[in-house]
Amino acid sequence: MELYLREIEGKQAHDPVIMVEDDLKSMRRRRCCCVYVAGPVIVGAGPSGLAVAACLKEKGVPSVVLERSNCIASLWQLKTYDRLSLHLPKHFCELPFMSFPSDFPTYPSKRQFVQYLEEYAERFHIRPRFNQTVSSAEYDNTVGLWRVRTSESEYVCRWVIVATGENAEALEPEIKGIGEFGGPIRHTSLYKSGHEFRGKRVLVVGCGNSGMEVCLDLCNYNASPALVVRDKVHILPREMLGKSTFGVSMWLLKWLPIRLVDRFLLIVSRLILGDTSLFGLDRPPLGPLELKNLSGKTPVLDVGTLAMIKSGDIQVFPGIKRLKRHRVEFVDGTTEKFDAIILATGYRSNVPSWLKEGEMFSKKDGLPKRPFPNGWKGESGLYAVGFTKRGLLGASMDAKRIAEDIQRCWIANTSTTTTTYSYLS
Ligand SMILES: Cc1cc2nc3c(=O)[nH]c(=O)nc-3n(C[C@H](O)[C@H](O)[C@H](O)COP(=O)(O)OP(=O)(O)OC[C@H]3O[C@@H](n4cnc5c(N)ncnc54)[C@H](O)[C@@H]3O)c2cc1C
Repeated sequence: MELYLREIEGKQAHDPVIMVEDDLKSMRRRRCCCVYVAGPVIVGAGPSGLAVAACLKEKGVPSVVLERSNCIASLWQLKTYDRLSLHLPKHFCELPFMSFPSDFPTYPSKRQFVQYLEEYAERFHIRPRFNQTVSSAEYDNTVGLWRVRTSESEYVCRWVIVATGENAEALEPEIKGIGEFGGPIRHTSLYKSGHEFRGKRVLVVGCGNSGMEVCLDLCNYNASPALVVRDKVHILPREMLGKSTFGVSMWLLKWLPIRLVDRFLLIVSRLILGDTSLFGLDRPPLGPLELKNLSGKTPVLDVGTLAMIKSGDIQVFPGIKRLKRHRVEFVDGTTEKFDAIILATGYRSNVPSWLKEGEMFSKKDGLPKRPFPNGWKGESGLYAVGFTKRGLLGASMDAKRIAEDIQRCWIANTSTTTTTYSYLS
């Protein structure tokens, strides 16, 4: 610690991170530190945090990235299943200023995506501070600066960029009788592969992209999966007319109104996949793109699961009524025996647990209150990247806007930085 402090003291002149003199003394006493950051503090080192750090770097604005885990892109590295590939073609998933390698497949594997992100961080010299969970961030009106706290440090800065993601915490539903079940009940964030479920009957709860893909994975490991489908869902083929469905949709939206594009998608899907309602997968009344726009609910891009449902290898059940010992009772009255349950029930933002502000983010879902494309900017130097429900494409758009906005203030303010510093000390 002592060595670390001396090292930081020596770096003060060149680093965007400056220890405040008075705080250095109290830090020695309390064994924690107060750090003045000249540029923005970015909370989260996932793809969004990296994208905005890179955009800022390109504009000459230094930043500090704080990450709770011990690696970049922790969602991808630590909380996703082995067979995961990008759901969308690579050119819709690249971060600003760097394309995927040309020898990567159209849908890179998670290992390739992580490799791309590591090279991205290296290229833009992004060195996140790991094991730094932000427990609170609050705007201090008296000094006109943000105070961002971790267990070890307090970072004082003009700008805070929230990049903790829409998927920060696993969302686990309350299910009656959950304590009685007796077998493993696991969220997809802890599921790696079907290997340990070989020969077992496994109920997968939730029919989004993850739930559907986990079912397929279980089939490949000779488990017997069943899928709980509580709500209506749009299933689209991942590709149509030799192109990615996402790409076709984007292209058509340039020329046609969303309802017509939805009509087109549904007709082609019906031709390729057949009538999904025959297999317990009813479609919502709104089209897939309109529904996505209004509620953020993503259509499922089929990677082969539907064929297994049609062949009977994956059974479909309605909502769960309650669990009993190794048995599941469904809302239609049927009861079936299962060895394990996988909860593909999604994630939620954790912003309300640490960001102390009431204007920009909703306390209810932890997402920006203003709808896309206006959710990226709040008051008093607060920004959000990656909360658009539009994946990596949306995060890149946010990142560019935020960097441009901060650069304007940065240029105007660099001359006053010293004043702020002496005020603090
Ligand atoms: C299974 C899956 C597949 C997906 N596939 C695609 C796809 O193909 N294409 C696409 O465009 N999108 C896809 N997405 C959606 C989205 O692009 C990804 O979730 C992406 O990882 C979002 O990046 P992010 O940086 O916003 O959030 P995250 O990747 O979740 O990163 C947020 C980071 O913040 C850190 N953090 C959280 N709280 C704190 C805190 N209090 N203090 C410090 N650090 C904190 C986390 O540890 C994490 O590292 C997918 C999502 C999932 C779940």
